[in-house]
Formats: sequence, structure tokens, C-alpha cells
Amino acid sequence: MKSKINILCIVFACAFLAAGCSLPKKAVPPKKSIDVAPLQTEQRKENTSKNASMNNAENLKSKEKSDEKIAYITVDDGPSRNNTVAILDTLKKDGVKATFFVLPQGNMDDIYKRIISEGHVIGNHSYSHANYLYDSTEDFEKDLLKAKAFIYKKLNYTTTVFRFPGGTKGRKKSIIQKRVSILKKNGYRYFDWDVSVADTDLNLKNYGDEKFIINLMIENVVNNTKGKKRLIVLMHDDSTKTYTAKALPYIIKGLKKQGYTFDVLTNYKE
Ligand SMILES: [Zn+2]
Repeated sequence: MKSKINILCIVFACAFLAAGCSLPKKAVPPKKSIDVAPLQTEQRKENTSKNASMNNAENLKSKEKSDEKIAYITVDDGPSRNNTVAILDTLKKDGVKATFFVLPQGNMDDIYKRIISEGHVIGNHSYSHANYLYDSTEDFEKDLLKAKAFIYKKLNYTTTVFRFPGGTKGRKKSIIQKRVSILKKNGYRYFDWDVSVADTDLNLKNYGDEKFIINLMIENVVNNTKGKKRLIVLMHDDSTKTYTAKALPYIIKGLKKQGYTFDVLTNYKE
């Protein structure tokens, strides 16, 4: 009996010791690994979500950039004392920068200078604005450089944008291609336009009174912007284009309402 009790005591003690030794060993490692693992997981989650939100921000930024609507007001054939001044006043008032494809005009130095000093861009529109520029590439280059020299001498300014007199639409591709090579050689990019106020229409005055014609010009632009994220607007500022100068504030207002911001063509990204 006594020996049975002794044996039971030994078994119990061994079981207790075994249990006592094994409990902490079993309990601690999982606890440790549980403590560490969630932290790492949380850290990973946090990092992942940080990266995701950064990616989202980047995506949003580039999406916004690609969705950005920019209008480029371009004003050809000036300057003139009446209309260029009126156009510059409007642009200043509305905080809009534009591109002026000027021609060589006499007694307009102050206006050429005002265009530059108010943050607009001057473009080369040829010197002669003549049809023979499409007959000979040599004449085209000579004329281009003559206009370049005129602008440089007057303003100490070199431009990188060019507009073909009358634009390139409807002209023979091979003729334009040869001239584009000359433009590239001389550091120019050329620009046509997406919408026009159509102020060169010779019958304009026969369509109606001043109010009607100005409305027509506004509509020519604001009703033809659909799907155009980059919108180059053509208008003119020679001395006969008084309706254009009067339509401009409404054109700017209409384009702003459609979400357009404004920029100069030297900033145009393909
Ligand atoms: Zn022109």
C-alpha cells in the first residue's frame, strides 16, 4: 500500500513537472509570434494602402491633367492701334494669355512691346503674307527669316511658333511638308486652328446688325468645342476686325464656363 502511494506520488510529481515545464514553453512562442505577426501585417497593410493612395493620387493627377481643357487664343495679322489695344485690354481684364501671329506694321512699336510685356507670345506669321510663299521653298525661307529678323530687331525676341498665312488646310501636302522641314530647321513649330470666329468672311456685314454678327462669332467658337481638350481659336486683329474685339470678352466667358483654362502656344503639348 505504502509503495503504491509512493508510486502515485512520483507519477503525479512527474506529471506536474512536465505540465509546469511545458506550459510556458508552449504558451510563449505562439504569443510572441502572434504579437509580431499582426504588427507586420498592419505595417504591410499601412504601406500598401499608402502606396495605393499615392498611386491613386498620381492617377488622379495624370487623369486630371489629361482631362484638363486648355484653350489657346490666337490673334493674326495685327497689330492695329484700335483692335489690338481693345483685345489686349480684354485679355488683361480677364487674366488670359494669348498668342499674336503678327505682321510687320509701321508705327506700332508700343503695341508690339505691350504684347510681350503683358505676358503674351508673339508668333511668326511670315513677312509678306503672300501667296508666292507656296510657290518657292527658297522664297518661303527668305520670307520666314525676314519676319524673324523684324521681330528680333524690334523686340530682341525670338519666337518658336509659326502660322502659315491662310493655314495649311486644303493645301497640297508635299508643298506643306517641304516648308515644315524649313520651319523645323529654323526651330519653329507650326499651328493651324480648331475653331475660328470666321471674321475673315467677306459677307459678314450682310448677315445682320452688329449684335447679330457678334453673336454669330461667339457661337462659331463656343458651339464647336465638343470633344476638344486642346482648343486653338483663330481670330484677327487688323484694323477692320472691330466685331472680333467686341466678341472676345463673351468668347472667353463662354469658354471659361465650359471649363477651359487659357495658355499660349509655346506651352502646347502634343
Ligand atoms: Zn494671316
